[in-house]
Amino acid sequence: MTQEPTDTGWERAGERTYVLTLEAFKINIGLVVGDDRAVVIDTGAGPREAAQILNAVREVTDVPLIVVNTHSHGDHTFGNAYFAAHGVEEFWAHTATAEAVAADPDAQRRMVARTEPEMGAREGEHTAVHTPTHTVGAEPVDLDLGGHSVTLFYLGRGHTAGDLLVGSGSVLFAGDLVEEGAHPEFEDSFPYDWRKTLGKIIAIDELYTSIVPGHGRIVDADYVRSQLGNLRRAIRMCSTAIHEASVDYTKAVPVLPYGPVQSRYLITRLKETETASDTVLPH
Ligand SMILES: [Zn+2]
Repeated sequence: MTQEPTDTGWERAGERTYVLTLEAFKINIGLVVGDDRAVVIDTGAGPREAAQILNAVREVTDVPLIVVNTHSHGDHTFGNAYFAAHGVEEFWAHTATAEAVAADPDAQRRMVARTEPEMGAREGEHTAVHTPTHTVGAEPVDLDLGGHSVTLFYLGRGHTAGDLLVGSGSVLFAGDLVEEGAHPEFEDSFPYDWRKTLGKIIAIDELYTSIVPGHGRIVDADYVRSQLGNLRRAIRMCSTAIHEASVDYTKAVPVLPYGPVQSRYLITRLKETETASDTVLPH
């Protein structure tokens, strides 16, 4: 280790475990440093952020790197190509995330175009998507970093179809399953399943005392409990509105605990995923 990570912009989250919050999307990048290898959790929205991340990592450690993508969204995966061009060979993600990254949807490009214009335009160096090379399914995967290990595991769908969790000591990286400082984003979500997945995160709160959200400040299980409470309430309100045929369900939007855009996505995704869910709606 050349410098104390905390002198280089990294916040210490736990043993050998650090968080760097980037400017544009307030995204949290994780770094877990072993004796032989280190894990970088999420790679930023394109080559610019990826370069910033890699520079920050290299101020801390020069061991070989492994990348983990918490989910498929561009602000978490579009730096992969830059890392691949700089020697990283192992990219881990949930199977559904690998598929979604490979699909390279335009919507993800549009989302990052303001801060990473080359990525938005699919032009220039390191702007191709780099699909994760190693996947996690139902079984957890332990990565031995030398003197420390991380566990990659999946608790079910939520913010996306493939939200991967990363445990390092008492720190849990939750990706966008947990959001701090902003509302949860429902665009690609499975709201009924998200409820269950948050419940499972709360159920393991004895293992993990610090939870690193995809964006915003580090939180604890109580914060996740309140996020789950909001989601439960919102789903109940929407379900009632959707099922009372005489009521225009969009009337639920102003009373939901989220902004209007995300409230509309929530309603849309509840309708789209209802039949696919094994959840029985309250009437
Ligand atoms: Zn996301």
